[in-house]
Amino acid sequence: SSTIIWFRQDLRLQDNAALQAALERGGAVVPVYILDEEGEGRWPMGGASRWWLHQSLKALDASLKERGSRLVVAQGKSLEVLRKLVKETGAGAVYWNRRYEPAVIARDKVVKASLAEHGLEVKSFNSALLNEPHTIVNKAGGPFQVFTPYWRHCLSLETAEEVVVKAKTFPAPERWPESVEIEALALLPTIPWDAGFYAAWTPGEAGAKKRLGYFLKKLAADYGEQRDLPGVDGVSRLSPHLHFGEIGPRQIWAAARAQGKESGVFPANAGVQTFLKEVGWREFAHHLLYHFPKTPVQPLREEFAEFPWASDPGGKKLKAWKRGLTGYPIVDAGMRQLWATGWMHNRVRMVVASFLVKHLRLSWTHGAEWFWDTLVDADLASNTLGWQWSAGCGADAAPYFRVFAPVLQGVKFDGGGEYVRQWVPELAKMPDAFLHAPWEAPEEVRLKAGVRLGENYPAPVVDHKTARDAALEAFKALKAER
Ligand code: FAD
Repeated sequence: SSTIIWFRQDLRLQDNAALQAALERGGAVVPVYILDEEGEGRWPMGGASRWWLHQSLKALDASLKERGSRLVVAQGKSLEVLRKLVKETGAGAVYWNRRYEPAVIARDKVVKASLAEHGLEVKSFNSALLNEPHTIVNKAGGPFQVFTPYWRHCLSLETAEEVVVKAKTFPAPERWPESVEIEALALLPTIPWDAGFYAAWTPGEAGAKKRLGYFLKKLAADYGEQRDLPGVDGVSRLSPHLHFGEIGPRQIWAAARAQGKESGVFPANAGVQTFLKEVGWREFAHHLLYHFPKTPVQPLREEFAEFPWASDPGGKKLKAWKRGLTGYPIVDAGMRQLWATGWMHNRVRMVVASFLVKHLRLSWTHGAEWFWDTLVDADLASNTLGWQWSAGCGADAAPYFRVFAPVLQGVKFDGGGEYVRQWVPELAKMPDAFLHAPWEAPEEVRLKAGVRLGENYPAPVVDHKTARDAALEAFKALKAER
């Protein structure tokens, strides 16, 4: 009988354990994607992710067609759709790769049990992580909450090997079941907000592989020094590819090992080693989400639930932050890069997050929701970790009293101003000395650069020192209450 292979966040044909198992089982293979928004619980995909998904499904369908197969696309409740497909194809088995978001785990359990009840062979596999969260425990038998010991432990284990899918053609069913067009899922935005996405990205397995190859060959050796410079092409930009499973960590390790063989050492250099450690943070994020499933909406450190957030009448401050109109150039550049490309450099994510939570004293959950809607790499595990880290309320978090000073961050990591000038063109002509604090420039310098504060570029929405002191006071009050 045929096997349904249910694609989810594993939109690739290589290193796909469920697909390989389906091919080994024999019989026809029926590849399926289901847009099941209800199944995502409180976190159905945001706008930017939907754009990515559209492109990625197109790419997956094209690769399947090269192998004499195709992608069956449907919308609705996963269980209902799968039952219908089983009936239509006479499939005897349903295989998929596991996900770790709490709502999805709950849904998948129900799907698995109900399909199995009807006599189907139902199996799930790991293709997303080197180590699945339930396989890793600390000495006390519990989950890790600090990255360094977590990662040391993971590195002491054998790394999972890439799953090689050799088949050049996939056996097709005699009759293909009904499918909707990818366009019918209406994943693309109705306003042309995605124009900049096309230039920035090549979604799909081939694009992911190419970017990894380029990164390892050209950029990785300098990653340690360059990764904090947002104006430089110095990081892998693999995050959306990893989120959608167009590439997996086992493949990253295999590629890094192959590179190590050429140079006689693994990792080939310190840059690659640091990069692999960052991929480890992704693993850690999944570990935390799995073991602390309430963290997308509740701080891991419970005392922060009582934090005295500032009021924001009319949502004015939040709006200024979202639109990149705070008057702090590095913050505004980041928020505009996010809007234009669906991605923001990690250094700047930390700066804008700290700014929202500490300078504006607005809850990290507002930031997490905005990122959820606008990031092409929006990932419940990594986004939750990133926001709770920035807010000081998560595992292994930056201490709350560490307030990123946006001007200093700009000067330190974008001293030449390439990043700010690209994303905040109003400031393009400001001399370096005042680029990150245009309000400090003498009036004539500003006028010469064509900058009129409050007219074509905002004056700062809050004063750094006042905001910083207020944030620290609020934190002290929180501690005193306990
Ligand atoms: P590289 O520097 O090349 O790193 C390689 C890979 O390692 C990344 O693709 C990513 O998968 C992983 N990685 C690196 N840093 C982290 C990290 N801190 N946490 C988890 N994984 C990491 N990342 C997401 O993938 N999705 C999110 O929704 C997300 N939200 C974030 C929110 C905030 C407030 C912050 C501070 C960080 C967030 N990150 C998120 C983590 C990080 O910013 C991005 O993974 C990184 O910028 C992606 O760019 P890259 O692929 O070039 O990373």
